[in-house]
Amino acid sequence: MSPAPLRHYIEGDWRLRKESPLLDVLNPATAAPLARVPLSSKEEVDEAVQAAHKAFPAWRATPVTERIGHLFRLKQLLEERAEDLARTITNECGKTFRESLGELRRGIENVEVAIGSPILMQGVNNEDVARGIDEHMIRQPLGVTAAITPFNFPGMIPLWFLPYAVATGNCFILKPSERVPVTSARLFDLIDACDFPPGVLQLVHGGKDAVEALLDHPLVRAVSFVGSTPVARYVYGRAAAAGKRAQCQGGAKNPVVIMPDADMDMTTQIMADSAFGCAGQRCLAASVAVTVGAAGKEFAERIAEAAASRKVGYGLDDAVQMGPVISGQSKARVEGLIETGAQDGARILVDGRGKQVEGYEDGYFLFPSVLSDIPPGSTLSRIEVFGPVLSLCHVETLDEAIRFVNDGPYGNMACIFTSSGAHARQFRHEADAGNIGVNIGVAAPMAFFPFSGWNESFFGDLHAQSRHGVEFYTQTKVVVERWPSEWTRAF
Ligand code: NAD
Repeated sequence: MSPAPLRHYIEGDWRLRKESPLLDVLNPATAAPLARVPLSSKEEVDEAVQAAHKAFPAWRATPVTERIGHLFRLKQLLEERAEDLARTITNECGKTFRESLGELRRGIENVEVAIGSPILMQGVNNEDVARGIDEHMIRQPLGVTAAITPFNFPGMIPLWFLPYAVATGNCFILKPSERVPVTSARLFDLIDACDFPPGVLQLVHGGKDAVEALLDHPLVRAVSFVGSTPVARYVYGRAAAAGKRAQCQGGAKNPVVIMPDADMDMTTQIMADSAFGCAGQRCLAASVAVTVGAAGKEFAERIAEAAASRKVGYGLDDAVQMGPVISGQSKARVEGLIETGAQDGARILVDGRGKQVEGYEDGYFLFPSVLSDIPPGSTLSRIEVFGPVLSLCHVETLDEAIRFVNDGPYGNMACIFTSSGAHARQFRHEADAGNIGVNIGVAAPMAFFPFSGWNESFFGDLHAQSRHGVEFYTQTKVVVERWPSEWTRAF
């Protein structure tokens, strides 16, 4: 029997039109159907936008202290239901239960930071810019805002945006990835229990048509996007052409430089977690290790051993360290890229293809792979793989390694492993990426810092999270003010 279809959450009400096409959502570990997701039409998106537009005047007039009261409740419910939500994430996205709990923690931290909005959205002022004249800059919400999110962090990424948008007085529409819509549905069950006024927060399922309806809708003022680079670029262009604010985070190809003076035990362990954690489906996954001088041979041997011994399986099973990739199509694509790497002259040190997990033969499992001697400029040295594959290339100096890093088209993250402060400093100063790790494998900014992708990894100027989130969701108004009095009239 097919699972019941999911519904949209519009104006505080769960809705579904009979004629909506439905797409199966599969558990990537079993290929079994988990849910059916409706693909909304332009009309359904319009319903959500109109409801948000209607709710906006009262919501923006609600004191910020009251608005964050609803977020305190949401934080409490997220804490209470974290394990249920984490199981849902694992079942629809494939990552391990521990990884699912970890991403939820990062999401909850954004709710906590947004609760600081009474301070974060404060303006600035000067008294007496001229005699008897004061000037103030205040922050006001935009109106209807929307976020379009990817499959790989269904618990965390909606919370990069939603709490900041509503805390600052906007109404907000989430369009999650149609591949992982169940986590968002469960998140909105909790939102429903937080007594937000109808229309303030809405959930609209769907794919490209729903995205385009949001981008073209004249009442949507701002769009946040996270996903692959071609779609991020397209969304940014279309949103900007329609006069909207946009912040669009794209894909990545994250290089990690390994110096001969790095602590090899620590480096190997951290690099294995970075490259193979979440089955490599992280925008901050280490994708190319650039070994320098004597680090080459030792790191290659150690990482190959770590890759080959990683326990792969169903994410809810104890001791499993890595789950499946998201789909059969994704698995085939990554297998094809390994083949391309080999044809371009790379050596396959560990081949994760063609292996099965007992009891889960239908799942989209791909074991960790390591390829060495990647030729500079080849496909594998530049393309985002988004699977459990680490490529190794070798250079003789830190300067050459930094040149390799800066030649890449992306700029989401670059890391260095070293015990030298001078090497670390040079790297931090010169590497052309917005998130830098020093002896860190996944340099994910905390919620109170911006998630700072650069180049092909980001289109826009204000990033997700932190003060950037507050600035993105507010417009500044400057007021120049004179109140004539006996005293000022004298001038
Ligand atoms: P995706 O680009 O396929 O989809 C992202 C969203 O865009 C989804 O909601 C989807 O419905 C929508 N979409 C897809 N195709 C579209 C189209 N042609 N027109 C309009 N909308 C469309 O991305 P994905 O596969 O879900 O996620 C993985 C990608 O996201 C990777 O490239 C990863 O690096 C990137 N990512 C980036 C960050 C970051 O912070 N930079 C974080 C997480 C994921």
